[in-house]
Amino acid sequence: MTAKGKVDLHTHTNQSDGLLPPEKVVHLAAQAGLRAVAITDHDEIGALEAAVAVGGQLGVEVISGVELSVSHNGFDIHILGYLLDFHHPRLLEFLSYFQSERVRRVHRIVEKLNTLGFPLRLETVLRKAGAGSIGRPHVADALVEEGLVASYQEAFNRFIADGKAAFVPKVRISASEAVAIIHEANGLACLAHPGQNLTEPVILDVINAGVDGIEVVHPKHTFSLRELYRQLAKTYNLLETGGSDFHGGRKGDEKLGDYVIEYEKVEKLKARQEQLMAKKN
Ligand code: AMP
Ligand code: ZN
Ligand code: FE
Ligand code: FE
Repeated sequence: MTAKGKVDLHTHTNQSDGLLPPEKVVHLAAQAGLRAVAITDHDEIGALEAAVAVGGQLGVEVISGVELSVSHNGFDIHILGYLLDFHHPRLLEFLSYFQSERVRRVHRIVEKLNTLGFPLRLETVLRKAGAGSIGRPHVADALVEEGLVASYQEAFNRFIADGKAAFVPKVRISASEAVAIIHEANGLACLAHPGQNLTEPVILDVINAGVDGIEVVHPKHTFSLRELYRQLAKTYNLLETGGSDFHGGRKGDEKLGDYVIEYEKVEKLKARQEQLMAKKN
């Protein structure tokens, strides 16, 4: 096959806060005519096994991924990991620690809501999360289901957005720790959606933390931001990635295929991975 084709390197399934199962996300990628799709659930790799299997049937290459939450100088930063060995014991150990911290956090959020006089039940939140990684979106869904707020957004605005009365921060690692974990699992680390909230000095700090790439194409990036990040990629010898940050309709994003990059970028990721592995040996 040639290096032609389009890819989406940023999607979420119901293993984190997406609404669709992994199989469905891969089906949509096939329908959109994509050559490859990366599944990048938050702190979670539970979708990958099934997604890879379906990808094999449908002729869509499924690229293993993860999106780790990092904190730096009070900034909420996301680091994408690609082409990881998702059976790597150290990666699994780290993710299971993160998962248990997420559950503890949701307990505390529910306690705070109860103290505020809102009788949200933990069971409802757990059911909303299902098997995968649990977070504030599931708290918001549960508040709506129990009739305690009128909408998902109201749940955030009144209670659980950063700094609100029932907000509890997440346990977070540093950017260099995230890069180290991803590299240990033979993956490549890329700064996710810098245009969402990051200033240029923070972006430079993350580059110094050792990321291999930067997300250029993303729904939150204007044309001029894309250009800016392409320039940064050139200056710092970073790979360019991109995708839709698809959540299966949770954010009005029912469709896959609008935010894509060339398959050639995947080949560059693979080449960089070979360099990384060669350095390790
Ligand atoms: P968590 O990882 O549990 O902190 O949840 C983060 C997710 O909550 C984000 O990916 C958003 O989908 C959602 N979120 C965070 N803040 C807001 C907000 N102010 N309004 C709506 N959704 C939000
Ligand atoms: Zn998300
Ligand atoms: Fe993100
Ligand atoms: Fe994302």
